[in-house]
Amino acid sequence: MILVLKPETSRESVEELCQWLTKAYGVQTSPIFGKSMTIVGLVGDTSSIPIEALEIQSAVERVMKVQEPYKRANRKFHPDDTEIRIGDLIIGGQRIVVMAGPCSIESEDQVRLIAASVKKSGAKMLRGGAFKPRTSPYSFQGLQAEGLEYMKQAKKEMNLPIVSEITNPNQLELFLDCVDIIQVGTRNMQNYELLKELGHIRKPILLKRGFANSINELLMSAEYIMSGGNSDVILCERGIRTFEDSTRYTLDISAVPVLKNRTHLPVFVDPSHAAGYAQYVEPLAKAAVAAGADGLIIEVHHDPIHALSDGQQSLTPAAFDALMSRLKPVADAIGRLM
Ligand code: PEP
Ligand code: MN
Repeated sequence: MILVLKPETSRESVEELCQWLTKAYGVQTSPIFGKSMTIVGLVGDTSSIPIEALEIQSAVERVMKVQEPYKRANRKFHPDDTEIRIGDLIIGGQRIVVMAGPCSIESEDQVRLIAASVKKSGAKMLRGGAFKPRTSPYSFQGLQAEGLEYMKQAKKEMNLPIVSEITNPNQLELFLDCVDIIQVGTRNMQNYELLKELGHIRKPILLKRGFANSINELLMSAEYIMSGGNSDVILCERGIRTFEDSTRYTLDISAVPVLKNRTHLPVFVDPSHAAGYAQYVEPLAKAAVAAGADGLIIEVHHDPIHALSDGQQSLTPAAFDALMSRLKPVADAIGRLM
């Protein structure tokens, strides 16, 4: 349920109203002082609240029922786009943000080399997996804490914020220490115990869509994180499983405009995991930008053939550089900056 307040309502009256709502009906309130209007979102069991009791409040202009089960993630609760700040970097603003780096962190030199090259090409964040959720238990599982240490080093040397995937809440302390954005991978999108833990921290989360999950399920997973108090969630479309086997997954490009319509959260696209082949990464990246994505996360490796994971879909530093220059005119065409 959403209360649209009268334009002249003071902050004190909004606070008073919120306190009364919590006391009278046991609901949580989420006031948003937007550019064009002030609204109060009600979260919790609103079924017993008589609409007339709200409509007669002097500050209330209109009461709207929200049908969708996601509330805090819902654009109706928060009409303006959410912008997430990491130092000077703004995610979800006019500028499209590209995160790039290897699938797995393999060595100190590897991270350093790739970090320097992606930064030179215009990436604003470094990606790299330390805890790798592999399909086979016999595949490389990641350098784990040692890998994060190398990422931390590269972050310091290159002045590049970092994003890395968490697979278990018991890794949280390590991540809080050095990672700027914590990634939740496709396989953990519905790991609700992990999501609840991430709701209690103060660090942005990059939440990837489960490869067999609907857009609404993705939004409900975001809601798990947000309901714990962490509202800095970035959503990421990374391909879903379909009958088509020419690519590793099928990039659901329509998820971008649908998400932009349903939620105020920033929307990213990972063309690398969707494509599965380096040659398709560029066209998918361009399509994502054209469709309105706020950013991209792309795998880059200096020696893809010998990469310990996902080499087939990794761009070389030269291919990444070319992609970045060819993305710019696409961004220009839709009035975005790169
Ligand atoms: C990754 O980013 O390397 C990764 C494992 O992604 P996903 O969870 O989308 O497969
Ligand atoms: Mn990967």
